[in-house]
Amino acid sequence: MSTADLSVLPPMRTGARAGRLRGALEAGTDVDALLVTRLPNVRYLTGFTGSAGVVLVTGQELLFVTDGRYRTQAAEQLEAAGVDARIAITATGSSPRDVLARALADSGVTRLGLEAHGVTWAQQRTYADWFAGSELVATEHLVEGLRITKEPEEIARIRAACAVADDALAELLPLLAEGPTEQEFAITLEHAMRDRGASGNSFDPIVAAGPNGAKPHARPSTRPIERGELVVIDFGCIVDGYCSDMTRTVSVGEPSPEARHMWDVVIESQQLGRDAVREGVTAAAVDDVCREVIVAAGWGEAFAHGTGHGVGLEIHEDPRVASTSSATLASGHVVTVEPGVYLPGIGGVRIEDTLVVTDTGSDPLTLAPKVLVL
Ligand code: ZN
Ligand code: ZN
Repeated sequence: MSTADLSVLPPMRTGARAGRLRGALEAGTDVDALLVTRLPNVRYLTGFTGSAGVVLVTGQELLFVTDGRYRTQAAEQLEAAGVDARIAITATGSSPRDVLARALADSGVTRLGLEAHGVTWAQQRTYADWFAGSELVATEHLVEGLRITKEPEEIARIRAACAVADDALAELLPLLAEGPTEQEFAITLEHAMRDRGASGNSFDPIVAAGPNGAKPHARPSTRPIERGELVVIDFGCIVDGYCSDMTRTVSVGEPSPEARHMWDVVIESQQLGRDAVREGVTAAAVDDVCREVIVAAGWGEAFAHGTGHGVGLEIHEDPRVASTSSATLASGHVVTVEPGVYLPGIGGVRIEDTLVVTDTGSDPLTLAPKVLVL
């Protein structure tokens, strides 16, 4: 029985987002319009979940262009999302050039922003040809800058995805004692999340036992999980477009003293990192707090990744929680805290939670217990 009730997710206020984007364009850029081509951003602005669609945001209108395959879906989803947009449908396989170029001319756009982090060199050349009357301007993370602060309705979806993952893990952990292969356990986990209403994985699950756990992004292998081995389980699912992300490291029976020591260090690092998360703290400071504990244990080199990342419509999004991050955490950000130690030949430990930043601290969304020995 699932603890996540996916039938009561509150309706989102998607229609208000284009107005906020226009505000960001006016305040922070010198472009007259933005061509939104990254699909998570298209979804954020319109509610459209298909695989082909672009949005042109001008001062006057939101123009959504997709192809004939999505005629009905686009109309339904934009209406359901309460989005005030003009929908244009191109013949499948033909380009949106004409409809976009006409809209730019009609609204007098001279400087058109592109999402530089989502546009290939080839696409940029195509757009330069299509929109010869406008100057193309590289922009970065404008829609992502809105997405970084989650609305309560978005947090409800991430929370639901986390609850599905919590619940699936609780049911399946006892199976580890039967010695499944990493692949078998990963597939069972995926199935259990789908069974509870997730639409899919937020990424391919990592189930990495013993020496395989020393690779932070190991792929599940056909090797059976043995007693006394550290097992890193990093997984998540998607509920109504929103991702969850959690890692637990466990052992069936007592692991070696060194493995236990690794786990003790990582859990302390992770707890201090979680405690550091609050409005106004820099993401780099949270990384520092986690790293200090691991460095003090002599394993600084073995913590070879950043401490965490934002989670939302994408599994990795802003803000990055790393020493190189310039982000400052603010209420409504959703981030992971996931320090780890990886020792070749021995194994790995990573412990990860997803948290919502609040004014006074954080609210954990992943709630599965952290217990080393099963
Ligand atoms: Zn993860
Ligand atoms: Zn993560």
